[in-house]
Order: sequence, then C-alpha cells, then structure tokens
Amino acid sequence: MAAGDNTPETAERSVARRSDRHQVVVIGSGFGGLFGTKALRRSDVDVTMIAKTTHHLFQPLLYQVATGILSEGEIAPPTREVLAGQDNAHVLLGEVTGIDLDKRVVTSQVLGRELVTSYDSLIVAAGAGQSYFGNDHFAEFAPGMKSIDDALELRGRIFGAFELAELAAARGEPTDHLLTFVVVGAGPTGVEMAGQIAELAHRTLKDDFRLISTRHARVILVDAAPQVLPPFGAKLGAWTKEKLEGLGVEVLLGALVSEVDERGLVVKYKDGSSQRIDAIAKVWAAGVQASPLGRILSEQTGAPLDRAGRIAVNPDLTLPGYPEVFVVGDMISLDNLPGVAQVAIQGAKYAANEIDGRLKGKPSQGPFKYFDKGSMAIISRFRAVAMVGKMRLTGVLAWLMWLVVHLFYLTGFKNRVTAVLRWAVSFLGRGRSERTSTEQQIFARQALSRLSRGATDLVSEPGEYDDAAERRRAELEQQAAEEARLSDENKRGVKIES
Ligand SMILES: Cc1cc2nc3c(=O)[nH]c(=O)nc-3n(C[C@H](O)[C@H](O)[C@H](O)COP(=O)(O)OP(=O)(O)OC[C@H]3O[C@@H](n4cnc5c(N)ncnc54)[C@H](O)[C@@H]3O)c2cc1C
Repeated sequence: MAAGDNTPETAERSVARRSDRHQVVVIGSGFGGLFGTKALRRSDVDVTMIAKTTHHLFQPLLYQVATGILSEGEIAPPTREVLAGQDNAHVLLGEVTGIDLDKRVVTSQVLGRELVTSYDSLIVAAGAGQSYFGNDHFAEFAPGMKSIDDALELRGRIFGAFELAELAAARGEPTDHLLTFVVVGAGPTGVEMAGQIAELAHRTLKDDFRLISTRHARVILVDAAPQVLPPFGAKLGAWTKEKLEGLGVEVLLGALVSEVDERGLVVKYKDGSSQRIDAIAKVWAAGVQASPLGRILSEQTGAPLDRAGRIAVNPDLTLPGYPEVFVVGDMISLDNLPGVAQVAIQGAKYAANEIDGRLKGKPSQGPFKYFDKGSMAIISRFRAVAMVGKMRLTGVLAWLMWLVVHLFYLTGFKNRVTAVLRWAVSFLGRGRSERTSTEQQIFARQALSRLSRGATDLVSEPGEYDDAAERRRAELEQQAAEEARLSDENKRGVKIES
C-alpha cells in the first residue's frame, strides 16, 4: 500500500495501461503539467494527464477574474480542448491521493470513484496551495487566490460588500466595515488585488450607487514584511508603495495578522501594539504550501521537505532512488528557485526531454538549468514594475511589457482576442465586463465543507445509481401501463365510486 493511499482493497482492481508503449503519467494540468505533456507530443510514448480540475489555470490573471475584468473561461481553458490535437495525450479528471513508487502506480479519485494508473515515467506537477501559516480557519473569512473557486468567491464578496453597504445605508446602519477591504500579503498578487479594488471603488463603481460613495471605500494592504514586493528589491518596492498610496491604498507594513473573523481582523506590530480593522471583505494573498503529494513522495524516498512542504529533488529534478520520477514547478526545493510559472514550464520541458532522450538512448542533458526571463507586477492601469536581468522598469513601459508577456502565455487564440477586448473595456474605458456574482459563489464552498466527504456525499456510490434507476424504471413502466389502461377503458373523467 502506498503512503497516503487509504484504499488498498480496490487498488489492484483497476490498473489502467493504454498500450505497450512507454507510459508517462503527468499529475497536474497547471504550467508544469500542460507544458510537460505538450513537450512529449512527438515522443513515442502515451501520456496520461491526471488533474483534479478539467482546466488549465493561468493563475497570474486570477485577480482579474476576482475583480470583474476577465471571465473564468478566459484564463482557464479546458485541458481536454487544449490537448485535443495531441493524439498521444489522454486527459483524466482525478485527485491523486496515492503514489506507490515501487509498484509504479498512481491512485486517483473523483466523487468516490477510484482509478489506479500505472506508469513507466512520472512527472509530478501538482503545484502549491495557499498557506495560512497554521491558521487554516482564517480561510473561511479570507479566501486565498489559487483557484477559479477562490476568484469567483472573492468576486462575490467584493461586489457583494458594496451592495450590502448600499443596503445598510438604506436601513440607516453603519457602512464603514462594509466599505473597508483588506488584502493580506504585499507580494505581486496582493499588490495587484489592492490596486484593482482601489480602481473599482474610485473609478469603476463611482456612479453606480445612490446612498454610498464608493470613493470613500478604504483599501488596506497588510504585510508583516518591512516593504512591499520584497523579491523586487528596495527601490521598486518603494516606488510601488508610493504609487499604491497615490491610488488611495493604505499600506500597513510590519503588521502581522493574528486573528481573522467574519467581521474583520487583528494585526500586531513589532512594538507589541495591535490594531483591529473591521472589514467583511478580506483577501488572503500571503504564503504558499506545496501540494501534500510532496509528503507522500518524501515518505517513500527520504527526500526532505522544506517549511513550505517543497520536496528536495536531485539536480535533474528526479527523486533519490527513482530516476523515472520527476517533480517540477512549485512543489520543488532546488537552489532557491522561485515559485513562478517559468520554473514549472522549463522544468517540465526538461523532464519531457529527459524521458524522450532516454528512450532514444541519448545521454542525459545534465543538471536542470533555469533561465530567468524576469518578473513583473502590475499596480493599476498603466503602472507596473518589471525586473529583467539587471534592468529595472517602472510605469507605462513596464505595464506594456506585462500586457504583451501575459497575452503571449495566455493559452488559446480566442482567449487572447477576448482578453484584449476586456482589457480595452477596463483600462481604456472604466467598465468591468464580468461583474456577475451569485449567492452560491460566496456560500457554496462553506456549505460543501460542512459535509463530511464534500461533494462525494451528494452523489450516489458507484453502482448504487443503477439499482435506483432500475427501481425507477419499474415505477415508470407501471405508471405508463396504468395511464394506457385508463385511456383504453375510457375511464377518464368518469366519477370514481368511493
Ligand atoms: C494569484 C497568483 C498569481 C501569480 N502570478 C504569477 C506571475 O505573475 N508570474 C509568474 O511567473 N508566476 C505567477 N504565479 C505563480 C505561478 O502561477 C506558479 O508558479 C505556477 O502555476 C506553478 O506551476 P505548477 O505546474 O507547479 O503548479 P500549478 O500551475 O499550480 O498546477 C498544479 C496542478 O496540479 C493540480 N493538482 C494539484 N493537486 C493535485 C492532486 N492531488 N491530484 C491531481 N491534480 C492535482 C492542480 O489542479 C493544477 O492543475 C502566480 C500564482 C498565483 C496563485
């Protein structure tokens, strides 16, 4: 039984092997998973991609979904569609719950349905989730920014807060806590979120309400670090802070979040003082925790995990003792590589080349070498910061660069076209095309989390539906026979004697 695999009795039953060709299993459909699979398109292998969502997610633009600029479809195309033209690729929905490195099988589950898939080579690209630094209960009140669910929930909470404020004003109640938005974490995502909420409040929504003035909304960016955007260096950090403040964002640095509840949060400063901020809409953009699959791999190989749960890999991205297993992207700890898309893309391409090369009897490429193409963060329309090699850019030039790079990496031609149109609407005009939000987007996740097995509790067990369907069929047949009898015997409209 593999570590982390709690269903050994079914494990042997459903091993799926597609052909006698070399079988590559790829876990994840993010940057590592998708680019790794694509890089194997000309190889003499079958690739099975197993991912827990049906889409490839372009995480860098999640904040634009959360703030109504883009739709979820534009940043999350169906993986199946993206890979439709790649004959050797097979996409399977499933959350991987077990990996047995000795048996070379991966166990995945969907709604209580289990599948075991065998492999000759494995690429693990399961990424990272949000870290609340041991305070997971904060998540209920301050959603992170890692998935489409997160972005849609945040969209509902942000636009919903303005609606509740208008309602509170109509009822003569206080509105301050409804018109205060707190973003925790002053890295690129936090800066982008804070900038966009400020633009929403001060520009987009300013004429839409009658009783409240959205221009008076407070947007607060909080971080325990002493500067914003630490990886961009002190100068760009200071520039960004100044521009954010120019947009009306209050930047609280050296402020550690110690409590979060429905109504607000508490921050603690270095001098021991603390401050409560009342705000119903909060965004958590601080800290990441690598996929729990890292622990499963660590237990079987002895490869250590770092504090963020990232697994130490060999210089060729393989695991000690298992040269057929590659781990790429946000899950790895190697030479202080950052958790950015290019590390995942380049790592996955490297792993694919290594697998292809081995099959062709070629020598190894040598250790994985990361080529840093630069980093950028957008602050608001026409303002961004960028670092490319030794070059530091700010303002419109950096913003244009951001636009071109994100357009280039956005998957799918139609998504690029619609994204450009939406950006024109939001950046040249002041509209937001995607302001729709529903009650379910805000509350369904919490409702699901109250079920012991989540969505699995809402569907029938495998096989159970068939019995129920047969019972229902018999009922319908009986009902149809009765209907026909009543008509044939002219019993319709005839008084029924009691
Ligand atoms: C809000 C945000 C903004 C960002 N902005 C930038 C940016 O501007 N520039 C930049 O370079 N990087 C940015 N990043 C980081 C970048 O997105 C990641 O470094 C990159 O996505 C890592 O790729 P990955 O393949 O390792 O993981 P991911 O892209 O996260 O993919 C992980 C995949 O694994 C799947 N998965 C997870 N667990 C399982 C499981 N148990 N079973 C099956 N499937 C599983 C997931 O569904 C997903 O498909 C940002 C990240 C976020 C969250």
